Amino acid sequence: MTQEFSFSLAATSGKARTGTISTPRGDIRTPAFMPVGTAATVKAMMPESVRATGADILLGNTYHLMLRPTAERIAALGGLHKFMNWDRPILTDSGGFQVMSLADLRKLTEEGVAFKSHIDGSKHMLSPERSMEIQRLLGSDIVMCFDECPALPATRDDIAKSMELSMRWAKRSRTAFGERPGYALFGIQQGGLEEDLRAQSAEALQDIGFEGYAVGGLAVGEGQEAMFNTLEFAPDQLPKDKPRYLMGVGKPDDIVGAVARGIDMMDCVLPSRSGRTGQVFTRLGVLNIKNARHQDDPRPLDENCGCPACKNYSRAYLHHVFRSQEIISSMLLTWHNLHYYQDLMAGMRAAITEDRFTEFERDFHSTRAQGDIDPL
Ligand SMILES: [Zn+2]
Repeated sequence: MTQEFSFSLAATSGKARTGTISTPRGDIRTPAFMPVGTAATVKAMMPESVRATGADILLGNTYHLMLRPTAERIAALGGLHKFMNWDRPILTDSGGFQVMSLADLRKLTEEGVAFKSHIDGSKHMLSPERSMEIQRLLGSDIVMCFDECPALPATRDDIAKSMELSMRWAKRSRTAFGERPGYALFGIQQGGLEEDLRAQSAEALQDIGFEGYAVGGLAVGEGQEAMFNTLEFAPDQLPKDKPRYLMGVGKPDDIVGAVARGIDMMDCVLPSRSGRTGQVFTRLGVLNIKNARHQDDPRPLDENCGCPACKNYSRAYLHHVFRSQEIISSMLLTWHNLHYYQDLMAGMRAAITEDRFTEFERDFHSTRAQGDIDPL
């Protein structure tokens, strides 16, 4: 097994790319979807079940873990991989995004962000240096730079100032990260929806030099059209020979559209969160298991799906356990949704390898347009 972090491109189809990120903890096939394990667990899933869906890598959240159980405690217990029983790669975010969305009484300065915990009101500080320290204590394989992500809409001036601050923080993140063979630090491009600001950000990041690059500041309420418009140019501004990660995306059609525009990695809580609220993703679109139409239906969610929920249980059963608020409902629906997402990624990787991504995209949209099977 490799002791270095590396990325190799195997094939392209249009702008879509497929390849492999190699790490000492295993390979990540790209395009990759990363399930979100916020508090050292992908909710309702055993780690071995997450692996069985086809995931090569998980995402952990710095903000949540630093507050509870704390990075220091996880480090003392052998690191996040051992703590949560997942021995494959883990990417952690920097905490920057969640501190802005979840914490109380935030104060942003050049140094970083001071805030109060949303859990117990305790005071904390996140800075590039502290974020790098926490992610090292967790043992994260892919570490994200500490950045600031302005909420959209914002004025061009505010976006420019925020991007420039994030670039200064990227430099401090790189210095604080130090030399760590086998581990990667990713820079995060900012600049909102503005092509020239995105270009400036990409250039500043490449001057510093990172093992991978994220497109940040999207999927924050701008809508799919604006996001895709930005993805027409943003990935092209980043190095071709490094992985490109679109943070916090998304719905299945967002994911296919992002891969079509040159993105290699994505993460989102949507498949797991939806599994707990009864929303189910299939090839034929979205269905809601709590709907009464399913209560007498002996058919699976998707007859073409190989997950345990589809192989062994009827829509009627899944409807019943959801309505009864049985824990197995979250387990089965989350498993199905994660399985569907990983199947989608595998399908895209195969299509890119065979240079038929345009065809894949067309089939994906026309199959979804059919909608769910008719009620019995
Ligand atoms: Zn299934």
